[in-house]
Amino acid sequence: MAARLVSRCGAVRAAPHSGPLLSCRRWSGASTDTVYDVVVSGGGLVGAAMACALGYDIHFHDKKILLLEAGPKKVLKNLSETYSNRVSSISPGSATLLSSFGAWDHICNMRYRAFRRMQVWDACSEALIMFDKDNLDDMGYIVENDVIMHALAKQLEAVSDRVTVLYRSKAIRYTWPCPFPMADSSPWVHITLGDGSTFQTKLLIGADGHNSGVRQAAGIQNVSWNYDQSAVVATLHLSEATENNVAWQRFLPSGPIALLPWSDADHMDFIDTAGAMLQYAVGLLKPTKVSARQLPPSVARVDAKSRVLFPLGLGHAAEYVRPRVALIGDAAHRVHPLAGQGVNMGFGDISSLAHHLSTAAFNGKDLGSMSHLTGYETERQRHNTALLAATDLLKRLYSTSASPLVLLRTWGLQATNAVSPLKQQIMAFASK
Ligand SMILES: Cc1cc2nc3c(=O)[nH]c(=O)nc-3n(C[C@H](O)[C@H](O)[C@H](O)COP(=O)(O)OP(=O)(O)OC[C@H]3O[C@@H](n4cnc5c(N)ncnc54)[C@H](O)[C@@H]3O)c2cc1C
Repeated sequence: MAARLVSRCGAVRAAPHSGPLLSCRRWSGASTDTVYDVVVSGGGLVGAAMACALGYDIHFHDKKILLLEAGPKKVLKNLSETYSNRVSSISPGSATLLSSFGAWDHICNMRYRAFRRMQVWDACSEALIMFDKDNLDDMGYIVENDVIMHALAKQLEAVSDRVTVLYRSKAIRYTWPCPFPMADSSPWVHITLGDGSTFQTKLLIGADGHNSGVRQAAGIQNVSWNYDQSAVVATLHLSEATENNVAWQRFLPSGPIALLPWSDADHMDFIDTAGAMLQYAVGLLKPTKVSARQLPPSVARVDAKSRVLFPLGLGHAAEYVRPRVALIGDAAHRVHPLAGQGVNMGFGDISSLAHHLSTAAFNGKDLGSMSHLTGYETERQRHNTALLAATDLLKRLYSTSASPLVLLRTWGLQATNAVSPLKQQIMAFASK
């Protein structure tokens, strides 16, 4: 089982904007650089999945894609013994995206854990909310980030004729022709790597994380602040055998603490299914069920070496696109992990952008044109800003033990728990 503990709550402060690095220049003649239809800068979870989505798209069969990753290729060793402390809660919508290009099959053959219930409760009152599925559907999946990366790398190898992946290849400069911003007919983006090699592309996708160099080079404003709070992740061992398919989260004034189910024991699948079937049958007999508080399993020990700390913050790019540029994942939005939505939002960006690019490729349109890039931006900003705002509000509301706010959130949580359609809507939104 993996747990996430968020601690050290303090004042929220605005981080100074690092300032756009407007990189524009006049071209002085013909270039012999290799030209790619799409370059994805940043091969983390989101960038690698974006390259897969395009590499497996039927309308991209004649296109050339380049994926640049500053770090080394991650190779998974000793899967059966070593549990990584970096795990993500993956929504059913994200699993569908990963399935669309074959990566989910690899994940299922390696290691993951489905969860079917989630209990969220307040440390300062009796209020709680229980999300559960009335059928046997999974609410989400806990997967090690390394397992997802391994699955993506395998799928990228299978389309190496279309997708070139360069590891240990940091892009140090992106240049656009003057004047900036450009018209749709503008020349292509030039990319320079640390070793001096250069490329050109019709569309540059920035998947280079929350300090995105692509975002800065394109001069896109980013609203951001640090939470003055860090996430501590660790692998925990339980003292007793449990059903282990419930995600637990408790809001303490110092920050939320989450316990995510984590086990690959085969016999547990049978117990889970049997348990869920019984619950389903009881639900049919007693449709207006009241969610009863449950206690999380007790912890026997913590893997000392698995503890790591991550500083937390919020960030949102004012624009996701410019002519010949699109931002995805943390480069476009950074969110507090209390709702476990960061990479799911990034995977949602991929579904939307890949759909718009596929249509453009089918119609023989310029991939870097604003005419379809703005469709992506509108679709995703509508979804992402709502999630960012809700997560930030929750984070602030639960960071206090002041009585009026505790009362407000107690009523809010109890009311939400009592109104089934509202809970269903929250679950539907989070499962995208
Ligand atoms: C503690 C914690 C728990 C989390 N839990 C969840 C969860 O349960 N569910 C969930 O959905 N999300 C979760 N998240 C959020 C999630 O981890 C991130 O949203 C996600 O990893 C972002 O992926 P990314 O690929 O956009 O960015 P990153 O992971 O930051 O990857 C960016 C990549 O770009 C590369 N790069 C950067 N600059 C360059 C360059 N110039 N040239 C080439 N390469 C470059 C970097 O090496 C890196 O590999 C959590 C986050 C934290 C901190």
